[in-house]
Amino acid sequence: MRKTEDYAECTYCGKTEKADYICVESHYICEECRLAKPEEIVRKTCMSTKMLDPLKVAVLIMKHPAIPIHGPEHHYIVSCSILASLRNLGVFNIDGFTFGRAISRAKRIVYGSCGLLGVCGAAAGVGIAVSIALNANMMSDKERSLAMKATSEALDAIQRLGGPRCCKLSTYTAIITAVRFFKIELGISIPMNENLTPCWFRFRNSECLKEKCPYYV
Ligand SMILES: [Zn+2]
Ligand SMILES: [Zn+2]
Repeated sequence: MRKTEDYAECTYCGKTEKADYICVESHYICEECRLAKPEEIVRKTCMSTKMLDPLKVAVLIMKHPAIPIHGPEHHYIVSCSILASLRNLGVFNIDGFTFGRAISRAKRIVYGSCGLLGVCGAAAGVGIAVSIALNANMMSDKERSLAMKATSEALDAIQRLGGPRCCKLSTYTAIITAVRFFKIELGISIPMNENLTPCWFRFRNSECLKEKCPYYV
């Protein structure tokens, strides 16, 4: 961190203001975003980001101090990062209310549901994004099937990795599966070039899967 008098753009919400401190790589985070709670930082970031890569959006959000190393916040981080990327690609009608809807749906999935219900919330987060993008509900035909297929593919990829749970690994895996799903099922190419290795969070997670994790080193 270094002191500055320059104007800088907030890495999270995109607002430009007179900065006080910026990091050595010139990143700046505005005061509102510094104090934001998890839901707020997810909504603000996803509403303003211009990034196309949903993994980059998710990693940026997960680096925010309000996001714990593990927790149910990851369920809506997955949905909202995918929806932000789709909005930036201009492929679905995604507006400012979309993220609030995704968050309220994802919040119904309890923490630890992977082990307790057999449904990882990050996997369900993919289904939520597909459901919202396609306007699915329980009465829909193809859209309902696609939402469930998206969740089941993400879930299968996550279960193969073993445990204990790592919400970062589940988030990476869910988003990577979603990108493949959108390409195969809907013909939508979502760019993805975030380099996940080595995982930025590996030293903060006391239950890190280490060598068992594809992104450890
Ligand atoms: Zn900000
Ligand atoms: Zn920085």
